[in-house]
Amino acid sequence: MIIDSHVHLWLRDHLPNNMVRAYLEPLQMLKDVMDWEVDIDKVWPEYGVTVSKLLEMLAAGPVDMAVALPIDFNLVEQARIGVEEYNSWIFESCAPYPDKIIPFIGVDPQRGESALKMLDRFTSRYNARGVKLYPSTGWYPNEERMRSFYERVDDLGLTIVTHAGAAWTSLEEKFSEPRYWAEVLDRYPDTNIVIAHLGGKWRSQAFELCQKYPNCYADCSALQGWLPSDPDTALSRLREIAEKIPDKVSFGTDFPLFELSYVSSMWLDFVKQQPWADEATKAKLLGENMRRVLGL
Ligand SMILES: [Zn+2]
Repeated sequence: MIIDSHVHLWLRDHLPNNMVRAYLEPLQMLKDVMDWEVDIDKVWPEYGVTVSKLLEMLAAGPVDMAVALPIDFNLVEQARIGVEEYNSWIFESCAPYPDKIIPFIGVDPQRGESALKMLDRFTSRYNARGVKLYPSTGWYPNEERMRSFYERVDDLGLTIVTHAGAAWTSLEEKFSEPRYWAEVLDRYPDTNIVIAHLGGKWRSQAFELCQKYPNCYADCSALQGWLPSDPDTALSRLREIAEKIPDKVSFGTDFPLFELSYVSSMWLDFVKQQPWADEATKAKLLGENMRRVLGL
């Protein structure tokens, strides 16, 4: 079974303007080459990512299942549509495809009591399995004020996927170093925490945490960003995974963010075909590890 453990679904109005600008940056760079005008209000609506677009991507893979991750940027900059409504849209649109898409909750724990209510609501109504967190909105994962949030996540049996590595615009990178998760991993051994993007430039921290804590995992989404210019780097990262933490990392695409530079099915083919590990190890990355994380 192949699982894409990191995809996004959203409409233009679910994202603050600055995030749309950031996501369009790769397009801006192509502006002269492709001779097109990059306008956030004109271009982005075409990239609104609905379930049907995601299903197309999965069919092209082919990929069996995907984990859909909404993100709550709204405390940094308000989107036109609020975060509760965004989450409801995700869960409602994924509901007809329980065997294909696993939606997570996207909420900023800095919301305090209302964040806890969202965890409760989406877990009881939709049987949510996890929550996507984005520390770069302004919090360190090991802050004491986050304690009640983790307690609730732990009580509800949710999996955490956290952004790690680079952050843009008004989001701050200093919060997204994986090492700040150590205390949380230690205090909640029953809560699985997945560090996205292998921790980005802090991948040595992600490797260390995965080696030390049985409940720590990672995904390799965004690694395909290397493929157009420097495929050897992507290959050496995969080899590092196979060598150091073959049971901990799961495949991911960060769909739709790389579709224009390197479509998801090509990234999947690269992982399947390149000689970075034996078939058994590849199968772990491609699905088995995430299946274990989610208890499927
Ligand atoms: Zn992502």
